Amino acid sequence: EKRQLARLRREPTCTLDGVDIRLFANAESREDVAEAHSLGAAGIGLYRTEFLFLQRHELPDEDEQFRAYRDAVMGMSGQPVTIRTLDVGADKTDRTGLTLRDEPNPALGLRGVRLSLARRALFETQLRAVLRASAYGRVRLLVPMVTGAEEVREVRRELARVAAALRAEGQPIGEVPLGVMIEVPAAALALPSFIREVDFLSVGTNDLVQYLLAVDRNHEGLGRLYTPLHPAVIRVLRDTFMLAQRHARPIAVCGEMAAAPEYAPLLLALGLTDFSLHPGTMLEVRRRIRDCDFAALQARRPALLRARDRDSIERWLSEAAG
Ligand code: PEP
Ligand code: MG
Repeated sequence: EKRQLARLRREPTCTLDGVDIRLFANAESREDVAEAHSLGAAGIGLYRTEFLFLQRHELPDEDEQFRAYRDAVMGMSGQPVTIRTLDVGADKTDRTGLTLRDEPNPALGLRGVRLSLARRALFETQLRAVLRASAYGRVRLLVPMVTGAEEVREVRRELARVAAALRAEGQPIGEVPLGVMIEVPAAALALPSFIREVDFLSVGTNDLVQYLLAVDRNHEGLGRLYTPLHPAVIRVLRDTFMLAQRHARPIAVCGEMAAAPEYAPLLLALGLTDFSLHPGTMLEVRRRIRDCDFAALQARRPALLRARDRDSIERWLSEAAG
């Protein structure tokens, strides 16, 4: 079983009917990047920069961040590395004093891009480090917890300003596409109004499910209530994938949903072709996808969209598996 899985390291992620699916890696350490490369990942779909900030008391400076980002870029030998700007706050508490201690409602508080825009010097340092790393390969910038157009514009302005400053200093930098996480329901609903202003999208189902269903992603007592198998989640995913397709914007899912082999048929049925997941589960997901028929799943999409409740979605999934 283990050995069978290991053989898939060198195999393509291709469905039975020949559709190429791209598996990107989520990375939160240097080791993850090396593993992603050895598993044949299409790139890094989510580089969680938080790991540089957690479990310490002082902030990493520009050079420390630059070295980490550059190493990731060089470690992927030319494949794209999607660096997410700092996403601390709520469940990701730090010890550097960045995040507020006594927020009444941390999941709805100063976190993600809100914190970056409130702490401009911190944000500028991170953008400089990311842009400097872009001289060493393909870098994409991904912004967490965006709710709408204003934040996209604000980040784009800041990115352009920092890039101009680096060029004026004679620093070599590459082209850095700007993407947003779709993880706040408002961003998904308002996406038609700002999709032209972003270069790519990544769906964070961990938070999207939490905010759509108003169910804390880490609450032990809520059990089965936290699930992507809800008609509202399915509908938002379908609409988001279709809009991205219509506007030719690359879109991946980088939440845990993409790492669960049992959900792969559902995501394929909704038209997803890019997944981003931790290297630890990459081969299992690859194996599952290689057993799927993309066209047959597309044909079953209407039945999935008709499902009225969790039981019907689960039935759809078990039929897709059978
Ligand atoms: C998500 O919310 O789905 C996501 C990928 O980001 P994180 O888990 O880091 O919040
Ligand atoms: Mg998130």
